[in-house]
Amino acid sequence: MRVAKDDTVMVISGDDRGKTGKVLKVFPENKRIIIEGINFIKRHTKPKSRMQPGGLIEKEAPIHVSNVMVVCPRCGEGSRPKRARLADGRRVRQCGKCNEIIGKA
Ligand SMILES: [Zn+2]
Repeated sequence: MRVAKDDTVMVISGDDRGKTGKVLKVFPENKRIIIEGINFIKRHTKPKSRMQPGGLIEKEAPIHVSNVMVVCPRCGEGSRPKRARLADGRRVRQCGKCNEIIGKA
């Protein structure tokens, strides 16, 4: 996965194109992610009890990682990060433009 939790990403296709948000959750098995404030779906729920009255709830739905670009925290460019290996052997993602290391190693 080239996108990790807590990354800031920009949506590059669909209704939310051009919006940015923080990655809340990653599903590596189907390469989907949930981004804060992106791809809201409306869902009607039936009332289950007096405590849960049902109605319309909106929540973020997962989108495929191919629809986003990681935004570099330093230069703000959306880019496909390149992989790099640090001197101590850790693998990191690096901005293709300014070489900033993106996210946690
Ligand atoms: Zn950068």
